[in-house]
Amino acid sequence: MIEKYNKPFFLGILALALQIASASVSARAASIATNTQSQQCGVELVTLGVGQDGGAPHIGRLDDPAWANIDLTLWPTSLALIDHRADKRYLFETTPEITRQLHLLHQLAPTQRSGLAIDGVFLTHAHIGHYTGLMFFGREAAGARSIPVHVMPRFANYLRTNGPWEQLVRLQNVSLVEMASRRPERLAPDITVTPLRVPHRDEYSETVGFLIETDGADALFIPDIDSWDAWKRNDDVAIEELVSKVDYAFLDATFYDDNELPGRDMSEIPHPRVVDMMERFADLPDAVRHGIKFIHFNHTNPIRYRQSEETRNVLARGYGIARAGERFCLID
Ligand SMILES: [Zn+2]
Ligand SMILES: [Zn+2]
Repeated sequence: MIEKYNKPFFLGILALALQIASASVSARAASIATNTQSQQCGVELVTLGVGQDGGAPHIGRLDDPAWANIDLTLWPTSLALIDHRADKRYLFETTPEITRQLHLLHQLAPTQRSGLAIDGVFLTHAHIGHYTGLMFFGREAAGARSIPVHVMPRFANYLRTNGPWEQLVRLQNVSLVEMASRRPERLAPDITVTPLRVPHRDEYSETVGFLIETDGADALFIPDIDSWDAWKRNDDVAIEELVSKVDYAFLDATFYDDNELPGRDMSEIPHPRVVDMMERFADLPDAVRHGIKFIHFNHTNPIRYRQSEETRNVLARGYGIARAGERFCLID
């Protein structure tokens, strides 16, 4: 329940690195790797991206400030779980920016292993920002061998029967592992990952979130959801109760409020708003609110900017905002 090991100062290192390496993404990742936390923590979570599927700068948005300022780049949402004790690494989501995100991971948590050094992938659903990075596992790029890809049954069927994904399965670049809702997958004697069904647009797959439980700290990852009211109808555990049981809850913060998409009726557009979630969770204890890390920002969401008034408001109300390169120690 208590946030013990979060190291926000790495964000400062990241920001500094971004300024120094403004012309070079690889230099950006390399300059973050000067810390030693990976040697001090047995099992940790790392944020590799915090943006919505389209990221930022956003396609067709010539006015996006991230075109001119690489510090403002938003990669789509992804987490890595690193078990340093066994030198194993797992990805939550494979985004279109996976190449750079894996480079960041390798800089943060160097390994002597060759190749991708990824021991498994967990995917929430088949929307482009969450799974299409799988394409880089194929023969055109990494030529990976049998990377376990954990998906729900309908998602597995979609990957088996539609190109280009079926080629990855056929050539055994990936090995599909079918999950069941609420059935824990064990990664180590003291680490499990449990998928939880989430209400969302399910065109090609189910949608899940993940509960990551360890003998130390626990985390919840729900990057995409239509609404918490719909969750309530689907699930017997209220979200307030669930976030109270974990140390960190990475929750869908696609939009800040209803004023972000001028000319569009936002009442028609799903996703909980940050302003509504701050009300919903307002009565929870300080430690629980601080463990809530908003993630999956649309390019229009002002909390993508560290200095915005909305960012200050969220932090002042005791909530967290996930940033790329942040580390969360789960087991010492
Ligand atoms: Zn998404
Ligand atoms: Zn989605």
